[in-house]
Amino acid sequence: MSEIWERRHRLDKERREKMQELMGEYDRTIYYPARKQLIEDCEKEGHTQGKFHDNGLGWCWWWCGKCGVSFDKQSTNGIKGDQLGGCGGNE
Ligand SMILES: [Zn+2]
Repeated sequence: MSEIWERRHRLDKERREKMQELMGEYDRTIYYPARKQLIEDCEKEGHTQGKFHDNGLGWCWWWCGKCGVSFDKQSTNGIKGDQLGGCGGNE
């Protein structure tokens, strides 16, 4: 195989690591606390049912249309066939 793929892969990896290094402090002190607060405030107000997601591995949940958090996570284990529609309510 051409070494181009290797070089591209390495470049992308180094960039990703550098970004994490540069963003780490900001994420820890500003982004994560602010996002946590945002989700808490949204929860008080009430999440909005955005997209429904079924990961096909036994779990399904809703994404909030406002804050983007996943909520109302339910197990689909033990639920078969026609009962699947019961996961999270309507489609
Ligand atoms: Zn929300």
